[in-house]
Formats: sequence, C-alpha cells, structure tokens
Amino acid sequence: MIASRSACEELDRSDSLAFARDRFALPEGVIYLDGNSLGPLPKETAGRLARTIEQEWGAGLIRSWNSADWINLPRRVGGRIAGLLGADADEVIAADSTSVNLFKLVSATLSSVRRQSTSRRLILSEQGNFPTDLYIAQGVVRATGEQFEIKLVDAGEVEAAITPDVAMAVITHVDYRTGHMHDMAELNAVARRHGVIIAWDLSHSAGAVPVDLGQSGAQLAVGCGYKYFNGGPGAPAYLYVEKSLQQQLESPLAGWFGHAAPFDFAAEYTPAPGIDRFQCGTPSILAMQALEIGLQTFDGVAFADIRRKSLALSDLFWNLMDNHCGEFGFNCIAPRPHERRGSQLSFSHPQAYAIMQALIDRGVIGDFRQPDLLRFGFTPLYLRFADIWDAVMILRDVMLTESWKYGRFQQRNAVT
Ligand SMILES: *Cc1c(COP(=O)(O)O)cnc(C)c1O
Repeated sequence: MIASRSACEELDRSDSLAFARDRFALPEGVIYLDGNSLGPLPKETAGRLARTIEQEWGAGLIRSWNSADWINLPRRVGGRIAGLLGADADEVIAADSTSVNLFKLVSATLSSVRRQSTSRRLILSEQGNFPTDLYIAQGVVRATGEQFEIKLVDAGEVEAAITPDVAMAVITHVDYRTGHMHDMAELNAVARRHGVIIAWDLSHSAGAVPVDLGQSGAQLAVGCGYKYFNGGPGAPAYLYVEKSLQQQLESPLAGWFGHAAPFDFAAEYTPAPGIDRFQCGTPSILAMQALEIGLQTFDGVAFADIRRKSLALSDLFWNLMDNHCGEFGFNCIAPRPHERRGSQLSFSHPQAYAIMQALIDRGVIGDFRQPDLLRFGFTPLYLRFADIWDAVMILRDVMLTESWKYGRFQQRNAVT
C-alpha cells in the first residue's frame, strides 16, 4: 500500500522508464490519462515534419518520392510496427484508417472463405465491441448481399462460440470500455482448430501491453496509429497479414498502390505479391512521417518494463480510488486479474460526464464513455507515480467541493 505522495516520488526515482518522459512535449500542469485515445506530441515531431515540409516537399518536390524514399515509408513504418508486435517486417503495412483496414481484411477473408465453403455463414464478434468494428462488419454483410450474418456474444463467450459455421471472427484484444483483455494465443489456437480466422483489433492494446502476433499464432490484425503509438490526430493505421495468408487474400479496394507494378500503369489490376497489396492509394507522407516519429518513442524500451509499470500505475490508481474516493460511489468495471486487464481503468458513476469535465478543468485529462464511465488510460512512457497520486487527490477534491455541479460541466461536447 502506497500511503503518501513521497512514497510515489520514491517509485519515480527508481523507475527504469523514467527517462522516456523527456521524449514528449507535455504541457505544464496537465496529468494526461488519455494516451489511449490520442497519444501526446513527441518532442521530435515538429522539427522532423518541418524538415519534411521544407526540404523534402519544398526543395525536393516530386523527386522526394525517390530521393527521400517516400515511396517506401508505409513499408518502413509497417516494419517498425511489426517489430513492436512480434511480427515480421513484411507482414505489416501502415495505411489508411483502422476502419478502412478492417473493411479490407474482413471483406478479403470472407471472399476467400466463400470460395472454399458455403456452410460458414457467421461473422463472430463481441457485444459491446468498438462500434466502428461492428459497423464495418455490417457494411461488409450488406456488400455481400447478406450472404453472411453477424453473431455477437459476450467477451467471455467468444471461445465457445467459435464453431464450424463461423466464417471469421472480429475480436478486439482490449475492450475500449471495460479494459478486458482476451488471451490471444488461446483464442487463436481454438480458432485454428475450427478453421476460423480471427481479425484482431489492437487499437487499445498495441503499445501498452505485450503483443506477440507471431508467437500467439495470429493471422490478421489491424490497429491505430494515434493512440499508444503517438502518431498524431488521425495518424495512419496499420494492418497485419500472416505471410502464409497473403497470397490468398485480395483487397476489395484494389487501388494502384496495391498493384504489383504501380508505375507500369497497366490497365489490368494485378495485386502485389506480398503485404503491399493491402495498400490502396497514395499515402499521406506528412502523417506517415509523424507516425514514424511517434513509434520512435519506444526505442530501447522493453515491453516487459512497459507492462510491469502499466500494471503498477493502474493498481496504484485503483487502490487510491478505493482508499480516498471510496465514499463517492465510483465502481471500477475493469477485470481485477492482471492477465485479463489492459492498460486502462473505467469507473462508473451516475455523474460521470460532469465529473470528468470538472477533472479536465483541473488539468487531469481522462475521458467519458457512454453510458456512465470515467475512463483513465495508463501510459508508462511518460506517466509518473506522483501523477497518479495527484490525479486521485484532485478527483477527491472535485467530489468534496462538488465543483462538478457547475452548469458549464454539464453541457455535452461533440467529442467526449
Ligand atoms: C480507436 C479505435 C478504432 C478507431 O478506428 P478509426 O478508423 O481510426 O476511427 C477502431 N477500433 C477500436 C477497437 C478502437 O479502439
């Protein structure tokens, strides 16, 4: 039990990841518990982007596609991401958004399944999955003329629902609301036994918890560049396709960047032999460049250390909430066991929205999620144990003074 701020400062002094905080341009007076929604600005990003703009774009002009190697940036960034996810460099490409990448993989997989079997009709996913994942699945079902049907089950029932009538599954590794984390290796093993491919959404796990796609037998995955990977608002996303599957899947968005030889300008589409076939059109080089800098904030950092500190920070937060905010009616909905928990905690409270606005006003930034959740993300690269102490004490003060009752904290913003 940590009973004082000075005990937290002691933990910060012996923290092996403390050095990484200096990689970020964090504003004064802010405790940022929302790196799971939008990673903060790395110190190097502005200077690197200025160089890309002035020298590569401004002076180099179109020559920079070759001279600055812009053409290989999606592959290079994909390779970096692969290194963080236990994949091979030629199994990951940075491209498009998570939603679009999921559309490509789900659509391609269902086409492949349809060629082999007509009895697999179900797309398995989770009740409460991130909405875009469900919307994309619904859109693909419509595009196939309703040849498939979506089946939603609770997170704990996914394994039992992987049956021979399932065409594929779309599973989010860490749930954005509850923070529940699936056992990826176990689900992959069950899925393979039944001939089912799982597309994993890593948006809320990659960069915060250890992910080893190769070791855990994953076949498909997508994820976000702007959350734990610090790529900036709307950063490019990425997708992973295990090597042995790449030849049999064809992107439904057959753009020229996925062509085997884009600059032959052939009239007929021939997909690139490898992961490149999942690119579509010209990538945003500025955004791609920013994502590469975001990924560099992980240089020299071991995921075992990230995981250890993430759990220590979240356990501390949970403990302090129990001990200092216990009388205010917060209820933590995250799984207690470490092996089932991602890097975030959500607390339900009837006044969650106004309380979060009052907290943000005091410099403690988390977010609100429907219907009644205050959500806090724990990012070991820049958070200190003393920040956790301060955040809970400020929350306690907000509750004691009832400052959340001010009218301005009740009005819903467009983005929560
Ligand atoms: C954040 C998030 C997304 C975001 O998708 P975009 O296409 O980037 O808007 C998708 N899935 C999950 C699980 C997420 O957490």
